[in-house]
Amino acid sequence: MSRRALLALVVLLVAAAIALETTQVAAQFGIPRIPGIPGFGRSEPQENPMDMFRAFEDMDEPQEVEVGRSVAAAVGARYKLFRDAALTKYVAMVGNTVAAASDRPDLRYYFAVLDTPEPEALAAPGGFVFISKGALDVMRDEATLAGVLGHEIGHIALKHHNETIKDQRKKALAMFGVNIGLGFVPGPAGMFTPVMSLVGDGIAEGVLKGFSRSEEMASDKVGFQYAARAGYDPAGLGEFLSALAAKKADAGVAKFMSTHPGIDDRLQEQTKMQQARTGSGKREAERFAKAMGR
Ligand SMILES: [Zn+2]
Repeated sequence: MSRRALLALVVLLVAAAIALETTQVAAQFGIPRIPGIPGFGRSEPQENPMDMFRAFEDMDEPQEVEVGRSVAAAVGARYKLFRDAALTKYVAMVGNTVAAASDRPDLRYYFAVLDTPEPEALAAPGGFVFISKGALDVMRDEATLAGVLGHEIGHIALKHHNETIKDQRKKALAMFGVNIGLGFVPGPAGMFTPVMSLVGDGIAEGVLKGFSRSEEMASDKVGFQYAARAGYDPAGLGEFLSALAAKKADAGVAKFMSTHPGIDDRLQEQTKMQQARTGSGKREAERFAKAMGR
């Protein structure tokens, strides 16, 4: 098989696998269903040399959401989603409250619970936030959930995915040539190109690997602020981190520590912020326990 044919086959297989998962993830997030095979139809490539330069530009919001959607699909393909509509709705309610107090309140946010006992919290570009059942199990109240979601919303608000997205677009360009720029232009509703899947997959890889120490620190800082602005006691994020630090020896927690680096510095910073803060906030322990079925 020629290299070109092999490449085409790989693209088709990846696209088919992701399209299958996309439907499931789309249902969970309440995203309009993204069609499978019909969605693979690409528009006629435009002979536009400017496409080559698109990879180096920052994206506008619709493009970011489109990429985020395929990243969410790729994340959903790696984890099972926790199919508890009431709990997911509750997480979304808390998340949207915090997001409304964030620096990007106008973005539409989607929240999903991952079905794994390992603590995990992830953010895809464009407003997609995941939290694992394992992470929820560590928490004692809504303020803690608000803090952790605030941190993830922080990654989105501060656009920490931008560099990864640019890298992936450059890679796609190198693989497929200039016309591929078309794949990044949001098409008619539901358009989902194989190229998009590959880019989404690459960014998902980055999302799962986690962010740098400085990005973690920056997200902590705004996460604390968002939770506080939303009316919560912002100590929750620090409490979550120290609960995990106490379980460092667990394999699942060790993995979390490696993808969310700098735990000791992060804890110190949270303590400092907490000490500088005056005023109180809500904890909502009872409502959290009820939502968790405890
Ligand atoms: Zn983070």
